[in-house]
Amino acid sequence: MARLRLVAIAGTAFLCACGRAPVKFTDQNPFAAASTLPYQAPPFDRIHDADYQPAIEEGMRQQIAEVHAIATDTAAPTFDNTIIALEKSGALLRRVAKVFFALTQSNTDDTLQQVQTDEAPKLAAHNDAIYLNDTLFRRIKSLYDRRASLGLDSIKQFLVTRYYKDFVRSGALLSDSDKAKLRELNKEEATLTTDFQKRLLAATKAGAVHVTDSTRLAGLSPAELAASHEAAAGRKVAGWVLPLQNTTQQPAQAELTDRGVRQQLFEASTTRAEKGDSNDTRQVITRLAQLRAEKARLFGFPSWAAYVLDDQMAKTPAHAIKLLTDMVPASVAKAASEQADMQALIDRQHGGFKLQPWDWQYYAEQVRKAKYDLDESQIKPYFQLDTVLQDGVFYAANQLYGLTFKERHDIPVYHPDVRVFEVFGPDGKAIGLWYCDYFKRDAKSGGAWEDTFVDGTGLLGTHPVVFNVGNFTKPAPGQPALLTWDNVTTMFHEFGHALHALLTTVDYPRLAGTNVPTDFVEFPSQFNENWALYPAVFSHFAKHYQTGEPMPQALVDKIKRTKTFDQGFATTEYVAAALLDMAWHTLPTGPLVANVDSFETAALTGFHIAVPAVPPRYRSTYFAHIWGGGYSANYYAYMWAEVLDHDAFAWFTEHGGLTRANGKRFSDMILSRGGTGDMAVMYRAFRGRDPSVQPLLEARGLVGGRK
Ligand SMILES: [Zn+2]
Repeated sequence: MARLRLVAIAGTAFLCACGRAPVKFTDQNPFAAASTLPYQAPPFDRIHDADYQPAIEEGMRQQIAEVHAIATDTAAPTFDNTIIALEKSGALLRRVAKVFFALTQSNTDDTLQQVQTDEAPKLAAHNDAIYLNDTLFRRIKSLYDRRASLGLDSIKQFLVTRYYKDFVRSGALLSDSDKAKLRELNKEEATLTTDFQKRLLAATKAGAVHVTDSTRLAGLSPAELAASHEAAAGRKVAGWVLPLQNTTQQPAQAELTDRGVRQQLFEASTTRAEKGDSNDTRQVITRLAQLRAEKARLFGFPSWAAYVLDDQMAKTPAHAIKLLTDMVPASVAKAASEQADMQALIDRQHGGFKLQPWDWQYYAEQVRKAKYDLDESQIKPYFQLDTVLQDGVFYAANQLYGLTFKERHDIPVYHPDVRVFEVFGPDGKAIGLWYCDYFKRDAKSGGAWEDTFVDGTGLLGTHPVVFNVGNFTKPAPGQPALLTWDNVTTMFHEFGHALHALLTTVDYPRLAGTNVPTDFVEFPSQFNENWALYPAVFSHFAKHYQTGEPMPQALVDKIKRTKTFDQGFATTEYVAAALLDMAWHTLPTGPLVANVDSFETAALTGFHIAVPAVPPRYRSTYFAHIWGGGYSANYYAYMWAEVLDHDAFAWFTEHGGLTRANGKRFSDMILSRGGTGDMAVMYRAFRGRDPSVQPLLEARGLVGGRK
């Protein structure tokens, strides 16, 4: 459910040298001018695949020309001729890129993928050409140095500071020799990151468990067995293959009755990338950790985590580590009680062994079935998609923020499954458009996400045009779309991001809507999930699609109870991984870590989270988020936002819950304000104090008695 962040990824993609005739950019290109549709909605009825590449290239050319003009302006730098001019630059590129990257995720094809491969490295170089432009930076620095005496209001001063920081964090302030060092380190980091991804991909593939005797796979369903047989055929081996998932624990362990196979699968997972072969990642990650510390030192920070978190809500590694370590005692205690429940079950069954990590999923599933069994087929008839949307998601937004919604059939869409709604504010004035594209199809990436086709900003005079994408099972023709509980919470989650984008009142694109730090961006979305089970909202949408009857209380109670099931395990494995990330990225500059496994053990022991039965969700050697993804020193961010969302929801509970007054306050103080200030200050003003971890612990069932 992570929100998709549209960034151009600089990679090793090679440029296509094939002989496609280049399409010229003309004023007939549908991106050439702002769309004349309501809210500048993308004219999907006029856009063709061949339009994107020329528009992206022309968009980059235009922005570079605009930036050059700003940088070489003979007039002294002012807020308007520099910052505002930069905010307005790149209109064509923004227009086309928003639509292009939306479609490469939700409705891609071979042509779009080829354009993406061609353009990603060019877009990365385009960003460097702006952020490493010394002449331009001198103007920004001059404004930054004088920001208090320019007569700017606080948001304008904040925007100047934001621009200055963006440039500084890209290396603008370094000496020429340090810039050269930085470029070298960046180059090496990109190479190592790519190398890590390649090794891990190969290691994960090679780590698959091969089984030749089907009785060893007892417990798997016929469909899973067939998939496993197919996986073997795909690798041209006889029998069955269990491919590895990216996490430490493997889903098949929940079903495999043969304890030996469970152990084999678990060990294949945890040792996949440390076999001393060409897929071993240990040398790569130790150098990456060392190199990032060196980069951080160039920027004047004691560690990579200190550099990364300086630009996040958490501010310092100490703050993020405190959040995580504060959760350790309760998580470990809950995990221990879950383990005791399972050991008792093993003993009752005369198992004669002590529960090991490869047994956890298997016995947790047995406990779950006995204690909480929630049969999806029983609850789905109460979750018809359109009722959940209109009487649940929209209803909560109406009660809290006074919004109303009207479906529009005259706005062009990129696929027949897409629906468009016009959104009206509390005064009845239209504020924007919201699209939903909920059903799974082959041309769509997995998961669910939110983004915008057009950002709402005062400066550009644009209203938000927002979309939510999901991967729900599409019903057969004529059948109702009935959802799982997970689908329902996903709808509330993604709509929370949409509210952040729709309710923005910020003038400046750099600060508007969801343009906030990584450890804040999931706060509005996770917060909105809370309303799904809120009695006044739940009873309003959870009605049987045939009879209109409300869901029986016994079923509602089951949904509520499963929320805290196995949370000791889930929290412990997550927190252990997040602390491991911090351990690697708070290292100062120095020699390479000599032994990855000893380092990991020492780190977990030091944080009092070395629980043999609950290993980290990712061990160091296959922790793709931090070595190959964009979450180095940032894996804590999910939990950071979760603290905020539960703490903010507790404020609502303390103040009367679902009321228009409460919603207005949250919108005025958080949702409408984008990234226009220090997020911690913004939150403190809303809550009246710093966030407390207590409501999160209660929601996860980690305090307040055993459940
Ligand atoms: Zn999200």
